[in-house]
Amino acid sequence: MKVGIIAWRAAQERLPTLMALAARNIHLESTRCPLCGDYDETSDHLFVSCQSSQVIWQVIAQWCKVPTLYAFSIKDLLDFHLTIQGTEKRRKVIHAMVLITIWSIWKLRNDRVFNQAETLHSKTIEEIKSLGYLWVRCRSKESDITWNSWRRFDVFTK
Ligand SMILES: [Zn+2]
Repeated sequence: MKVGIIAWRAAQERLPTLMALAARNIHLESTRCPLCGDYDETSDHLFVSCQSSQVIWQVIAQWCKVPTLYAFSIKDLLDFHLTIQGTEKRRKVIHAMVLITIWSIWKLRNDRVFNQAETLHSKTIEEIKSLGYLWVRCRSKESDITWNSWRRFDVFTK
C-alpha cells in the first residue's frame, strides 16, 4: 500500500488541492473546500482544520484509544505518534493509522470532486479500519491479530 505518498505530498504542499491549482492559474469555479464549503482548500485546511475531517480524526482517535489530535499542521499529524505512550509497536501502528486516515480523507475529497459522491463519513471510517487491518496483518508481523480484536483496537497494549 502506498498510502504514505499522499501524506508526504500533503506535507510538501504538493497535492493538487483547489488552491494549488489556482496558484498555477488553472481556472476554477470555486476554490472552496469540497468537504465543508466554508474555506479555501489547501492541504492544511483539508487534512487539519476542516470541521468535516476533524470529525473523522475524532472518531479514529477514540477508536485507537489515544487523545484527540490537536494538530495545527500536517507535520503535527505526522509527528503525532511521537506523543503516544507505550511501546514502539504501538507508536508505529498509530502512525500508520494517521497515514491511512490522510489517504482516506483525500479519497473522500476526490469522490466528492470527481464523482459528486456524497460518501458518508461512516463509510470512510469503516474503510480506514479495514485498511488498517490489512496494514497490520502484512506489515507488523502480528498475523495473529483477529478482526474482532482489531475492531476493538485491543492490540499492542503491552
Ligand atoms: Zn473544509
